Amino acid sequence: MKSLYSLNLKEAEGIMESLEAPKYRAAQLLRWLYRVHVRSWDELKNIPKDLRDKLAEKYFLASLELAEEYENAKNPTTKYLFKTHDGHFLESVLIRQGDRKTVCVSTQLGCRVRCPFCASGKSGFFRNLTAGEIIEQIAWIVRKSHCQITNVVFMGMGEPLDNFDEVMKALEILTAPWGFEMGGRKITVSTSGVPEKIYEFVKRTDGRIRLSVSLHSPFDETRSRLIPYNRKYPLKALLATLYKIHEDLKRDITFEYTLIDGMNDSEEDAKAVAKIARPLQAKINLIPYNPIREITWKAPSEEKMKHFRSILEKEKVRSTFRKTAGQEVEGACGQLRLDRVTRR
Ligand code: SF4
Repeated sequence: MKSLYSLNLKEAEGIMESLEAPKYRAAQLLRWLYRVHVRSWDELKNIPKDLRDKLAEKYFLASLELAEEYENAKNPTTKYLFKTHDGHFLESVLIRQGDRKTVCVSTQLGCRVRCPFCASGKSGFFRNLTAGEIIEQIAWIVRKSHCQITNVVFMGMGEPLDNFDEVMKALEILTAPWGFEMGGRKITVSTSGVPEKIYEFVKRTDGRIRLSVSLHSPFDETRSRLIPYNRKYPLKALLATLYKIHEDLKRDITFEYTLIDGMNDSEEDAKAVAKIARPLQAKINLIPYNPIREITWKAPSEEKMKHFRSILEKEKVRSTFRKTAGQEVEGACGQLRLDRVTRR
């Protein structure tokens, strides 16, 4: 059974037609889903009972259940652990920074990339999330937190471009006037670098959705250690795609760069990063390493990180410095779920 939260307008109209209901019921239904974020059939007040019953025979109204919620008063971040209808767990995070309220969503159960610093890939890969399960994470959080969400980032569990079709569908629902009606620039999709999908993604979204590519090292050997997908998609292939995007589609690139003490934070690293970024006019988001319990790596000292950034500046490469959110709420991405699975 599918979740109603994965429907676009055309599909909703098709369903109404097949159930011999008037076409305008489709817009009414989508309004309940994407504006009110209903969780029970009784809430669909202007949809007749017999139509609700027919829909309930074929669809879940909602397929995720909230299993746990962790809040930290010092760090205005809340982590949500959801249980899927087939018994798996996934995580989402709400980050409150002044007027900015960002939801970080998961796109897969587990992750095939298996970055050693990330808890998400540790327990293997189970399946892709559906667009409905991606959208439901946001709907649940809006409802639970009473927050007006301003931004969505696809940076939770999973490699979004490995679940291309469902992620594209979720983006359609987020940006459509019949959906959440969010501006594309308020949404960021983060990828470990899947060259064959990146070009298609930028082309199909017309560059309206922000794309962030994890670089983490300018050298194949270290990058393969940090992002094992680099063995399959080495830097040469990834950069060739990014140059093509820059040339053909005239879109800027943002790189994420997690700084790890003694691993990728040397002057040589900084200079090589600048060499990659400059021709792309790319911006670098520097992020101090967020420790997880299984690995003893740590973030470089403040001084070392400043020095790294100063080299980028000297080389005329734009950079920002981001503090990791969620660090105090049960660790890094995927950690909460990993704990739960391990406990089971
Ligand atoms: S960092 Fe991202 S790509 Fe790497 S294992 Fe974690 S979820 Fe997957």
